[in-house]
Amino acid sequence: MASNTMPPVVRGLNFYALDQNVKYFLERTNPQMLKRQNGRLTDLGAWVGNELDVQAEYSDRHAPPKLAHDIIPAGKPGERTGRVVFNPAYEDAQIEIYRRGVIGLAFQDKNPEPHSLSFVMGYLLSQTDISTHCPVTMTGAVAYVVNKYGSDDVKKRFLHESTRMDGLAKTGGTWATEKHSGSDVANTTTTARKHFDGSYRLNGQKWFASNASSGLAVATARAEGTTGAKGLGLYLVPSHVDKDWTKPNSYHVTKLKEKLGTRALATAELLLDDTYAVELVPPPHGLRVMMEALGYSRVHNAMSAAGVAHRALLEVRCWMDNRETFGKALSDRPMNQKHMIGMSVDWMAACALAFEAAHSFDVSQGNDPTAHSWMRMVTAIAKYRTADLAVKSANTAVQMVGGNGYTADWPTERLMRDALVLQVWEGPRQIQALELTRVILGPEKGAESFIKNLNALAKALPSEMKTERALLKRKSAEIAGMMGDLVKNPQTAEFVADDILDAAADILTYALMARDAAWEMKHHNDSTKTLALQKLAETMFSQVKQAGYNVDTLADDFNRLVRGVVSPAPTPVKKTGPNGPAPN
Ligand SMILES: Cc1cc2nc3c(=O)[nH]c(=O)nc-3n(C[C@H](O)[C@H](O)[C@H](O)COP(=O)(O)OP(=O)(O)OC[C@H]3O[C@@H](n4cnc5c(N)ncnc54)[C@H](O)[C@@H]3O)c2cc1C
Repeated sequence: MASNTMPPVVRGLNFYALDQNVKYFLERTNPQMLKRQNGRLTDLGAWVGNELDVQAEYSDRHAPPKLAHDIIPAGKPGERTGRVVFNPAYEDAQIEIYRRGVIGLAFQDKNPEPHSLSFVMGYLLSQTDISTHCPVTMTGAVAYVVNKYGSDDVKKRFLHESTRMDGLAKTGGTWATEKHSGSDVANTTTTARKHFDGSYRLNGQKWFASNASSGLAVATARAEGTTGAKGLGLYLVPSHVDKDWTKPNSYHVTKLKEKLGTRALATAELLLDDTYAVELVPPPHGLRVMMEALGYSRVHNAMSAAGVAHRALLEVRCWMDNRETFGKALSDRPMNQKHMIGMSVDWMAACALAFEAAHSFDVSQGNDPTAHSWMRMVTAIAKYRTADLAVKSANTAVQMVGGNGYTADWPTERLMRDALVLQVWEGPRQIQALELTRVILGPEKGAESFIKNLNALAKALPSEMKTERALLKRKSAEIAGMMGDLVKNPQTAEFVADDILDAAADILTYALMARDAAWEMKHHNDSTKTLALQKLAETMFSQVKQAGYNVDTLADDFNRLVRGVVSPAPTPVKKTGPNGPAPN
């Protein structure tokens, strides 16, 4: 079989080494960081493609977490019931992930790395296991707000604990959702009462708490007797009440959710019963700061979705190269080649959005308000669109692998189940649409900076891309019109929000991929993304939503967009278990 260039199974591949796209992103945005961290990422890529993959399958299928209803003697006050029991492989994987610096490197005292490094590591992790990536997103979110808003005392006590890289990191949780709603956090009912010693006691119920065994969570709670967002503060809830982390805090894990996917992830209902807490920010700042924490984890969510799209493509590629029907490899069949080209373009589109969200997050840490509104808009758009692309890719992967792909014997089954959560948590589509309209209608006047940035991206395209530039300008004018109408008629926001989100997602994807295509052509003489951009435009902007495939060019397109971007790049797999050598 001439086309048999991929191994029969994905496990064992190095997810970083074979991914030129992510390296282009790092080289374009953070070339020095790429030099410093290329070895670490290569090592991580091998680990996630191998050891973590074994763990993910095992934990999901055979050993998800269980709730032990025993009573744990707690530090004052009260006691704690409900202990989440994980299998040792999941626990070891958790330790190993933080030891590799997934969060710690961005918070080092000396020369912290950009958050983009952590986001890229999340992209790699999620290709194997959203159940271990999810706690990473929350650990990073907690560290981020502690670092930004914590008093010196709070930072001294908690920041090192969340970011340490010696295998003892206290992983994070974000406790916002209550029984009444996860979208409507402003109506949080959990209360916070000040204790005589300056700490707080929380009482209430949190309805979804992932990473239920977290060492340090942030929780929204309101001052007693208040209503609405203004009464909300944000509180740190450590798993233990004393500074030596020996006396358990007082809250009860009352139930572990039984879920469609992410079964290895412990998502719990919690009863807060005079739970010890430390104030991070007082009312009325709680909602705003929790939204900042969620902003951070939404970037991880987008990276996760891009990772799922990549894994789906890898699975299909390996299968199709190695499966023959009617005497010919499936990957040599034109219909399959068209599907795989579509998957490859979708993956690149997801990467374009997620990577921009990651980079814009770092850029927004400065004082430029337009950078902040760009980051918020890109993040909302990326969170929404990448999740849809992940689900679409995972679904296509199940169909393309066929009956085996539908069974738990093949990774596509778990990939499909797990991908669905990316559309829900961190705010579904409508919540991202409302976030977008808030930035457009709010003091940041987001529409102005959004259109300005699109125009700048169009202007920067080289003369050889004048067709792309013209299309980008035309589509920018359309979205400018839609956003302008909204600004004139803000009362229509809830009616038009999702249409604007969709149109903005289309044009932003196109603009970012055009920029990347130009950069890759200029710096590497690589026209792959230019071709992908053409396919994207044909699919996204044509009235008939169908890519324009040509029978004469299909084989060449397939070689460039699928074989060229997804080819095995084996690297020696190092033994890097919890007791293995620390990565450089
Ligand atoms: C596996 C899993 C793990 C989770 N882990 C956590 C966690 O660790 N911490 C945490 O805090 N939460 C967690 N969540 C909760 C998650 O963030 C919420 O499910 C999500 O934010 C939506 O909230 P909800 O489910 O209460 O839906 P609701 O708020 O009841 O909304 C239902 C639907 O209505 C839509 N909607 C809501 N308001 C509006 C509006 N104004 N206009 C139009 N449509 C609207 C929503 O988009 C959604 O589609 C988790 C959820 C899952 C599934």
